[in-house]
Amino acid sequence: MAKTFIVANWKMNKTTGQALEYARGLKAALLQNPVSAVVVIAPPFTGMRALAEELKDSAVCLAAQNMHPAARGAFTGEISGEMVVDAGCRYCIIGHSERRQLFGEDNHLINAKITAALNYGVMPIFCIGETLASRNAGETFSVLSKQLKEGLNKIPANDIGKIAIAYEPVWAIGTGLTATPGQVHEAHSFIRNLLSEIYGEKATADLSIIYGGSVTAANISSLMAEKEINGVLVGSASLDLASFLAIVNFK
Ligand code: PEP
Repeated sequence: MAKTFIVANWKMNKTTGQALEYARGLKAALLQNPVSAVVVIAPPFTGMRALAEELKDSAVCLAAQNMHPAARGAFTGEISGEMVVDAGCRYCIIGHSERRQLFGEDNHLINAKITAALNYGVMPIFCIGETLASRNAGETFSVLSKQLKEGLNKIPANDIGKIAIAYEPVWAIGTGLTATPGQVHEAHSFIRNLLSEIYGEKATADLSIIYGGSVTAANISSLMAEKEINGVLVGSASLDLASFLAIVNFK
C-alpha cells in the first residue's frame, strides 16, 4: 500500500537556530498527537546535521532539497548522495521546478540524480509538472510522460516503489493557485497508469504520488479526500509551524 507523505520544502529559508526551534515544536506536537502520514522536512543543507540530531528519536524524517549525481570531486557548491545520508537524510527532492527553471536542470541530469540517490538508499521525491503554457496548449500529459520516461530512464522496475513522485504543476507553485482536486486526480491517475503500463502493476502498487502547489490548511482536506493523492509537498505554508501543523493534522 502506498504510504502518505507530508513534506515541508523550506527552500532557502531558516538559519540552523530557527530550524531547531521549529523542529522542537513539531517533534513535541507529533509526540502528543501522532499522525499516520510520514512527516518529512527538507531544510537547507546547513541545517541538516543539527536537525538530524534533534529529531533522531522522533517521527519526523529529513530530506535534502538536492544532491549531485557524482560520488565526489570538483563540483563547487554541490553535495553528494553519501553526504546526504551522512547528514541524516533518508529522502531527497529531485527535479524541483525551481531547479529546472533557475538552475537549468534537465531530465537527463535528473535521471542521473535519481539513479545516484537510489544507489545510496535515499528515496527520491521526484518532481514533475507542466507549465501554464503547456496546460493551456493541451500538452499536460505529454509533458508529464516525457519527464517520467526520461527521468526514470533505465531505473529497474523493482526500484520504482522506492521513489515518490511529486506532481507539482509549475503554475501552482508559490502562486496561491491550487490545482483542483479533479485536476490532481486526473494527473495522478495518468502518472500511475503510465508507470503501471511501463513497469507492471506490481512495481507501482506501493508507489506514492503526492501533490505540490500552494497547499494550505484551507485546501488540504479537499485534496486529501482524493484517493489518488498520497500526500503533499508544501512550500510557503510549511515555513510557519502552526500552519504546517494544521496541514499535518488535516481531517
Ligand atoms: C514547492 O516549492 O514545492 C511548493 C509546492 O511550494 P508552494 O507550496 O509554496 O506552492
